[in-house]
Amino acid sequence: MNTPISRPIASGPALIDPFGRHVTYLRVSVTDRCDFRCVYCMAEDMTFLPKKDLLTLEELERVCEAFISRGVRKIRLTGGEPLVRRNVMSLIEALGRHVKSNALDELTLTTNGSQLARFASALHDHGVRRINVSVDTLNEQKFRTITRWGDLKKVKEGIAVAQKAGLAIKINAVALKGVNDDEIPEMIRWAHGEGMDLTVIETMPLGDIDGDRTEQYLPLSVLRAQLMDQFTLEDIPYKTGGPARYVEVKETGGRLGFITPLTHNFCESCNRVRLTCTGTLFMCLGQEDAADLRAPLRASEGNELINAAIDEAISRKPKGHDFIIDRRHNKPALSRHMSVTGG
Ligand code: SAM
Ligand code: SF4
Repeated sequence: MNTPISRPIASGPALIDPFGRHVTYLRVSVTDRCDFRCVYCMAEDMTFLPKKDLLTLEELERVCEAFISRGVRKIRLTGGEPLVRRNVMSLIEALGRHVKSNALDELTLTTNGSQLARFASALHDHGVRRINVSVDTLNEQKFRTITRWGDLKKVKEGIAVAQKAGLAIKINAVALKGVNDDEIPEMIRWAHGEGMDLTVIETMPLGDIDGDRTEQYLPLSVLRAQLMDQFTLEDIPYKTGGPARYVEVKETGGRLGFITPLTHNFCESCNRVRLTCTGTLFMCLGQEDAADLRAPLRASEGNELINAAIDEAISRKPKGHDFIIDRRHNKPALSRHMSVTGG
């Protein structure tokens, strides 16, 4: 895709928002498409963005490099399913060079695992060391029901191949009331038994889905109390740069994370922004406000315009989100789906 050696990155001023938070983490949704249709994430009959609106992989690389030059140290690729975008490995290879040159601390991705068996060893070769894999249940039938199109066997096979390739894995599970809440203890034992961390996530009100979210919503404070009947959970200061708060499960010796956007607002320490595959920058996962980076990117070969657009966007980073799920607010807080901005 480009020269084998990474271009040297000129360094510009750090990105600091109006609340004094340093933006050092960029999440990039490389596609809004996916080979699954998880019930809490997408409607079965989704309309995706027209391909002509997408940034090319080279353009995505340019935007990422602009952010790296402004002090971003961590990039996570997500989606949709990042591994279904054609030639995505060329972007991963290009960004991986910045890990190898120490311009980036970490390049990582969040995946549904369906394509991992194919790509795991290339990911490792390109400098990826940790990935998140989303698995909400260990029951094959239920997995098919939740993902609509997914095959748990294939995902587990992908996880095994990725571990063999040397990738550390964190499992992400969305906690769904009456669907997988009874299974979380088993998932803790499974993940920790395989040497993986597990993080549970509250459902967030993003985008219209076919069902009712109030039925699915499980506050993690409730789950945590239930888990304490059978596990000893000890708060630990472990941090991965993400919003999860971790405990150590004494009985398994493994780590369990809680991502609680609804019961506990984590915005005060937010260090990230999110880029969509069309070059729109969301300064907050939970707000509609966004900045277009595609026009300044395409308007000039140099980085002045894109840098100015990034500065302007960061000056508008809001203090936080105001997600809420209850019966009076049984509408998505935001019209866009999680697959647009990535999880
Ligand atoms: N396709 C990849 C995957 O599933 O890991 C990456 C994109 S997916 C949107 C990222 C994460 O967001 C997944 O762990 C998924 O379970 C989670 N997610 C999707 N919709 C969500 C919602 N409405 N609330 C909370 N988490 C959600
Ligand atoms: Fe696809 Fe991930 Fe959304 Fe599931 S959660 S539909 S795997 S983007």
